[in-house]
Amino acid sequence: MAQLIDSASEIQSDAQTIADFEAHVNPALAQVLQFIGFTSVESEARGCIVTDSTGRRFLDCLGGYGTMSLGHSHPRIVEAAKNQLDKMAFSSRVLFNAPQAALAKKLAELAPGDLQFAFFCNSGAEAAEAAIKFARITTGRKKLVSAEGAYHGKTIGALSISGRNKYKTPFAPLMQDVQTVPFGDISALEAAIDDDTAAFLIEPIQGEGGINLAPDAYLQAARHICTEKGALLVMDEVQTGLGRTGKMWGCDHAGVAPDMMLLAKALSGGAIPIGAVLGTPKVWEFWNDSPLIHSSTFGGNPLACAVGLETLQIIEDECLVEKSARAGERLIAKLRQTQQKFPQLVKDVRGRGLIIGVEFPHEDITSLVLAGLAQRDVLVVPYTFNNPTVTRFEPPLNISDEEIEWATTAFDAAVESAAELLEGVEEM
Ligand SMILES: *Cc1c(COP(=O)(O)O)cnc(C)c1O
Repeated sequence: MAQLIDSASEIQSDAQTIADFEAHVNPALAQVLQFIGFTSVESEARGCIVTDSTGRRFLDCLGGYGTMSLGHSHPRIVEAAKNQLDKMAFSSRVLFNAPQAALAKKLAELAPGDLQFAFFCNSGAEAAEAAIKFARITTGRKKLVSAEGAYHGKTIGALSISGRNKYKTPFAPLMQDVQTVPFGDISALEAAIDDDTAAFLIEPIQGEGGINLAPDAYLQAARHICTEKGALLVMDEVQTGLGRTGKMWGCDHAGVAPDMMLLAKALSGGAIPIGAVLGTPKVWEFWNDSPLIHSSTFGGNPLACAVGLETLQIIEDECLVEKSARAGERLIAKLRQTQQKFPQLVKDVRGRGLIIGVEFPHEDITSLVLAGLAQRDVLVVPYTFNNPTVTRFEPPLNISDEEIEWATTAFDAAVESAAELLEGVEEM
């Protein structure tokens, strides 16, 4: 077998990779991906371009669900990671670690309001888990309120406050004392948050929920209601943070500062996993009684933190927040031109900055357009976990005008082919 693999052509070794994935990782997912038209094995990536083992180049408008804000393999990220690896990758865990302290300080500078402190972990779900614990210990209350369609991760706690029953029901019983409220409904929120509510968790734009934008007035009302009732406002900026929406933070559009903020995805520089919970001095008081009451072995490791710090510096140096706003306007405008041509197929185009959702009337049309985009070498988010009629464009924030042209020309052609195909079906 080993010999076979060694002597195999590239195509054969790709077939082997897919067969191994199917046999040892996830058979059903292997089927779904191939059905949509993803039959390549990726081998390298730079900026917005992912290259497969045969040299075929894809435009990455999926961006690891918003992780690739700097683009793939940003040279400064690669260098920062290599430098830190050469020194020490992992902390002794008892000596002080400079990248961690520096990253926490920089985040405190950039974050809205009074988010002076940071707890580091390794993913968005872990950040949500930590925030649930921090909210309960700080307030001494049990109840958590979250929004319908929310996505906070797939660990038990994070799942309990997320929206889609398909992913929840098989794992019942989940966490108790959770209430979900319709996204954007101020009076429902007012009714739900009571004297036993520890926190309200909300995404400024629901990513997996289908790119649902929280109205500014909703986030402002949430701030007001939480303050009045003594509940904590937790802003999940795992996907919207760090320039994705055309401002540094998704909640900046509404001018609202939360009591805790969750980060992950783009803070990784697209390279080294990291998650974080930012919190105010008041929230952080609980640590005083027991400084190890919550912890993570890998959380805050020097490698991830050095890369996180470099990420923040690159965002500033390359004006990526402004670029995101400008590129987003351009991309949305061009997608809407296609919508005007095919209003019966493209129901809605919505977003802010470079988190953009395109809604179709039916999930089969989503699949057709996805396949058409894949044929034209454009990768978009193949499904939003909680809303399969919506696909998403979340390219790197430094996507060029030419690359936007590539994406939108492909989108227009993919929608046109879908329209022709459907007409054919109707005539039959
Ligand atoms: C992706 C995501 C998470 C979960 O992050 P993981 O790193 O996948 O665990 C949580 N919240 C939001 C808003 C997300 O987009």
